Amino acid sequence: MARPYAEVIGDPIGHTKSPLIHSFWLEALGIDAEYRATHVTPDALPGYFATRAADPDWRGCNITVPHKVAALAHVEDREDVRTSIGAINTVIRAEDGALTGTNTDASGFAAPLAGLDLAAKPVTVIGAGGAARAVLFALSDMAVGPVTLFNRDVAKGADLLSSFGLEGQALPIGEAVPPSALLVNATSLGMTGQPPLALDLSALPAEAVVYDIVYAPLETGLLAAARGRGLVGIDGLEMLIGQAAVAFRLFFGAEPPRDRDDELRRRLLA
Ligand code: NAP
Repeated sequence: MARPYAEVIGDPIGHTKSPLIHSFWLEALGIDAEYRATHVTPDALPGYFATRAADPDWRGCNITVPHKVAALAHVEDREDVRTSIGAINTVIRAEDGALTGTNTDASGFAAPLAGLDLAAKPVTVIGAGGAARAVLFALSDMAVGPVTLFNRDVAKGADLLSSFGLEGQALPIGEAVPPSALLVNATSLGMTGQPPLALDLSALPAEAVVYDIVYAPLETGLLAAARGRGLVGIDGLEMLIGQAAVAFRLFFGAEPPRDRDDELRRRLLA
């Protein structure tokens, strides 16, 4: 048998940070395996999964744009991701060649919130796209209180709240932010090249946590405003590293060395 490997697939694929994260952990743990980036176009997706299912060295893949929904057609959906988050970001190959899909974004998002008790607490979320679906799935698992969901497309926001069984209301961005224990930005606003997310955070209590899943730039205007008010801020690299950690365990059966996150973060930002 040749060297085991996993990979991230997408179209385009040049922007991905996943190989850096997984290679850092493989090297740190001395595991003789590879994690690479592979360009796969939509037309090539069925052939890609057929070839990889027959390759015993292939442990699985992460999936990025535009394949997160289309990939569901080629794998077993044992966790019923199709009717919850609606998209997969990870595929695992069993020894018999069976492929199973999962989504590690929700647990990656939840990981840095593990020490907080958010049950029945009010939460604000901005966004109703693919990442927001993973965020709302995780929040419904935490049994949070009412969710105020701000989105440009308000009807889409209201649909998401009801599909995740969350109490609350959907509002257009620009309405007043209510008092919340946690505020999450899950839009692309604030990302390099996108308009900023300008919110008035004055209604948030002093113990509120502000979580921006955007990671380019790392210190968004929203996080700077939160820290300026003395609030705890969580940046997008926490979720990025968190979702990769769940996938790494599935691919390589080892615990990633999270005590080396500072070094990993420096490399990701270099
Ligand atoms: P998406 O599915 O395209 O959703 C984009 C969201 O942003 C929607 O809510 C959209 O509103 C909103 N939006 C976009 N442009 C806007 C504008 N000009 N004004 C107001 N709202 C706007 O994208 P996604 O996959 O959810 O990704 C969203 C962000 O999360 C990206 O920055 C991505 O890099 C980041 N992300 C981070 C991680 C991580 O691990 N840290 C993981 C996944 C994603 P409408 O619904 O009204 O169009």
